[in-house]
Amino acid sequence: MSKRVLITGAAGFLGSHLSDRFIKEGCHVIGMDNLLTGDIKNIEHLFPLKQFEFYHHDVSKYVHVPGELDYILHFASPASPIDYLKMPIQTMKVGSLGTHNLLGLAKAKNSRMLIASTSEVYGDPLVHPQTEDYWGNVNPIGPRGVYDEAKRFQEAITMAYHTYHGLETRIIRIFNTYGPRMRVNDGRVLPAFFAQAIRGEGLTVFGDGSQTRSFCYVDDLVEGIYRLLLSDYSQPVNIGNPDEVSILDFAQEVLDMVGNPDAHVINKPLPTDDPKVRRPNISLAKEVLGWEPKVSRHEGMLRTYEYFKKVVPTTVNN
Ligand code: UDP
Repeated sequence: MSKRVLITGAAGFLGSHLSDRFIKEGCHVIGMDNLLTGDIKNIEHLFPLKQFEFYHHDVSKYVHVPGELDYILHFASPASPIDYLKMPIQTMKVGSLGTHNLLGLAKAKNSRMLIASTSEVYGDPLVHPQTEDYWGNVNPIGPRGVYDEAKRFQEAITMAYHTYHGLETRIIRIFNTYGPRMRVNDGRVLPAFFAQAIRGEGLTVFGDGSQTRSFCYVDDLVEGIYRLLLSDYSQPVNIGNPDEVSILDFAQEVLDMVGNPDAHVINKPLPTDDPKVRRPNISLAKEVLGWEPKVSRHEGMLRTYEYFKKVVPTTVNN
């Protein structure tokens, strides 16, 4: 019997890549999404398959799925800073009420549940690189608080179901991930810079661009998620690429790759509570999962550029 997997946020960037992977592994995938920030185009190619079904549903409302479920992967959430600024209440609800509903479903079906947590639980970190035993530096009432605290609550309630109900749970802390199917206008740095470079506009570097991020290619992340799900490890695990770069240097890399003479760097104010540094310590993932990223930033950026070359010209600039 093939495994039955529920993936929430299936029409999103990560959810759609996960749906592809689990289909490839011979699973029956039930995708769920309310299409608030997801795009059905990301999973259109799966609709003809018998192994795939799609439910248009908001998981912050009661979730019903008929039949058995081996695994539940909770990836539904607005995930970019401009999205959760626009949709603060939905962001809080999907991470809290949504997670509670799915944990209840997992308990009823005796499923293993994996939740998508985030490097944002570390906030503007005072420990660098970030290890899983660091508790973080989060402003609960700042603009990012709705996402960060929802994800922190999500971890807490997931651990509570694990210890109190004995539910099998997995927690992944995802660091900045990129690749094809990222939304052009989601405001995150990589789609923003590629779209601006392709259109020959100013690349909007926030602040002086000295803040750092560490970008992981989506295929590497999906491999890490797959391994964690199949492992027996129930504590949080960082998955990300430790190759750290400043935002200003990253803008230059995009300019060099796209080579549009009209594109250039411009500066914009740094958003409130923007973390100054971010880089995963992945020793735990190496030890427990035998996982480490394989795709270099240059290679991953080339693959992602191919995607943006196709979609940017057909996307309205806003
Ligand atoms: N950033 C930027 N210009 C943009 C978008 C983002 O300089 O047009 C910066 C942002 O201030 C942050 C980093 O790039 O320091 C990553 O931002 P993103 O929104 O991609 O994700 P975050 O890691 O902050 O959640």
